Amino acid sequence: MVVAGEDRNDRISLRILLEDFCPEMRGRVVEISDPVRLHQATGANLAARAETLARKVRARAVRDDTTVACVFVHEDLDAVDGDQYPVIRLRVEKALETALGTAHYALAVAEIESWLLLFPDALTAVCGSWSVPARHRGRDTGRLADPKQVLMREVSGSGRRYREADAPEVFGQAVAMGLAESPTGRNRSYEQLREDAARCCTDHVWPKSR
Ligand SMILES: [Zn+2]
Repeated sequence: MVVAGEDRNDRISLRILLEDFCPEMRGRVVEISDPVRLHQATGANLAARAETLARKVRARAVRDDTTVACVFVHEDLDAVDGDQYPVIRLRVEKALETALGTAHYALAVAEIESWLLLFPDALTAVCGSWSVPARHRGRDTGRLADPKQVLMREVSGSGRRYREADAPEVFGQAVAMGLAESPTGRNRSYEQLREDAARCCTDHVWPKSR
């Protein structure tokens, strides 16, 4: 299993969630650093970027003397959920499938921090002074234009400020508390990740591990 993406914290976060959604992936996920930049690309440009990523994945498999069951590619849309999200997601996923065979495009709206706001109790468990305000609970966090700022300014309050490096610990806490499958509120891109992980587990990981 490969998790590819630009940011190390985001890759670790994605791995933590995938290993919870699909325990068969545990201990089998490797990370590949790649600048990605797929969501704004189209046509030949998109195909070329997907092929560049595929070459990296194949080279890593050769180096590790293994086969790759599947690839999850993370990117932030940097825009709120809307009509363009499913269009872009499908376009890139098709390009990735063409280049890689089996692949999933984990496109977060607006960015992976919006997923953290789905777990108010995990945020408070990681840092006692953090609290998600009522107006952000039980909502569609994919509609927040800048969830990172919400975490730093509104959730952190006067206590220790949220930093990007905290994300993996919060997701790990959400998993430990059994919350990853029952988020507070919703986010289409998070629900998509859960669907993709479940499909990957039955269709891609399991058949190839036999
Ligand atoms: Zn898969």
